[in-house]
Amino acid sequence: MAKAGKKVAVLEQHDFIGGGAVTIERGMPGFKHDLHSVLHYLVQPNPLLANDELGLLSKFGLQYIYPDAVQTTVLSDFSTFELHSDLDKTCESIAKYSQKDAEAYRELAEFGRRVLPMLLAGMYTVPIPLSATLGLLGNSEDGRRLIDMMFRSPLQIVEQLFESDHIKIHIIRAITEHTLGFPDDMGTGLSVLLLTVLLHVYRYGLAVGGSGALPAALARCIEHHGGVIIKNVTVEKVLTRNGRATGLLTTDGEEYAAKDAVIASIHPKKLSHFVDGVPETVLGRARRTEQSPYRLFKIDGGLKEPLRKNVPDHVPQDGIIEWILTDNFRDFIKWFDPLRHGEIDFDRPLIGGGDMQIPGRVPEGNALLYLTQYVPYNLANGGPQKWDSIKERVADNIMEKLTYFMPNLTQDNLLFRKADSPLDMERHSGNSMVEGDPCGLGFQLFQFGGNRPTPELSNYAVPNVERLYLSGPFMHPGAGVFGVGRPVAIKMCDDLGIDFDKLVAN
Ligand SMILES: Cc1cc2nc3c(=O)[nH]c(=O)nc-3n(C[C@H](O)[C@H](O)[C@H](O)COP(=O)(O)OP(=O)(O)OC[C@H]3O[C@@H](n4cnc5c(N)ncnc54)[C@H](O)[C@@H]3O)c2cc1C
Repeated sequence: MAKAGKKVAVLEQHDFIGGGAVTIERGMPGFKHDLHSVLHYLVQPNPLLANDELGLLSKFGLQYIYPDAVQTTVLSDFSTFELHSDLDKTCESIAKYSQKDAEAYRELAEFGRRVLPMLLAGMYTVPIPLSATLGLLGNSEDGRRLIDMMFRSPLQIVEQLFESDHIKIHIIRAITEHTLGFPDDMGTGLSVLLLTVLLHVYRYGLAVGGSGALPAALARCIEHHGGVIIKNVTVEKVLTRNGRATGLLTTDGEEYAAKDAVIASIHPKKLSHFVDGVPETVLGRARRTEQSPYRLFKIDGGLKEPLRKNVPDHVPQDGIIEWILTDNFRDFIKWFDPLRHGEIDFDRPLIGGGDMQIPGRVPEGNALLYLTQYVPYNLANGGPQKWDSIKERVADNIMEKLTYFMPNLTQDNLLFRKADSPLDMERHSGNSMVEGDPCGLGFQLFQFGGNRPTPELSNYAVPNVERLYLSGPFMHPGAGVFGVGRPVAIKMCDDLGIDFDKLVAN
């Protein structure tokens, strides 16, 4: 877009430079919380970071730390399973429960490593049609195994591969935290590979200063190249003329003319609100896209002192720990059932989280609190609006239940607490987290790859509206901080006759 000859980015409400709206002080000065994402995982293999294409790491101040002991799962009998970035150490941890499972896990991890180039080749670029992906994969034994995983459910895959409840619980917990899907959802099995064993190749990154450091580095990059970022305005409409995007109209009536193109983060379900002229067949399918099956409830808080954890000495107290209030896999799977019916089970909640002592983000001696629970958006008894009246009770229950593992997670130790229901998340980000869905859209096969969000919109362009491009977690590759802007830029450069490879080589 151009106003006064500049490249312009228009953003709503928040001053995000320096991580303002993404990493914020919510309760007390010195306690800096990530409002949404905390861990940046599938953006790490993206050439945006892997090759530092924009210089975010080398020139614009973005830094990551990569915790080593990645994830521990603690069950109600206080037994633990530790996933390390080191595959041998992880297999040792599994062998405590089952030698057979350790071997199956190693084989899966080695398969993951082997097919990684195939997976990554299509992830951060404009996707080809799903039918073509399947055709290509069908040509090799590894590809056929990938197709098999894609069509199955995570539950089928872990039941086939493993015998120990520990490893099954760990994998299903790790996947569902990312996909917000049911273990038996058919067509989501690829998540077993993408979100578990690939951690031995790419680690989670924690941005130094908080997640806001990523958009802050992007902002510095835009400004370095002469771009201007306009804050605290709300876009009302994408302006179009003769089947082409010509600019933006803001709610206070200001118009911004587009020189080359408009890139907008518009959820497929909101497309008709922002853009005129899109064919009804395209809009109809866009409206039928599916949100993730359930949502995340989150607590941010400040603690007087760090949490004491009932874990064996060898488990690092400051690592990522998942707490499971059962040690039985069948029970664990049943705990998802209330979510299918819009219900909250106060006795058997799927909860997690803990404390963080990240230098520079919390006063010395204190700790940040971050707790979550899987919850429905549309409550059976009262719908989404009911969330405002029950959220503090839900937050009390999460804390009370987790004292089983962390005895000083008490009101006495709490300096402040802010709870976010799915309704709050929708209020924060209503054009991305539609119906409070942090992933934008579900992870199911029918809206995956060249089908995400729909076949007609999957190449980031909008039929009948030239020079309008869509970005966001509801687009391929999806569902979190993945660096989706890269394939959007590839598509746009292609249309404008710009050599993308040359552009990022400079
Ligand atoms: C509790 C929680 C934890 C999460 N944890 C992780 C994690 O660990 N790792 C991960 O990868 N992902 C995680 N996610 C998901 C991730 O945060 C989201 O996928 C990501 O923030 C979505 O980015 P976005 O730019 O689409 O939306 P946002 O980050 O919400 O940004 C959208 C921006 O657009 C602005 N806007 C909206 N409408 C308009 C308008 N009309 N005009 C102008 N501006 C407008 C909004 O105000 C907002 O600033 C998490 C999400 C939640 C809720």
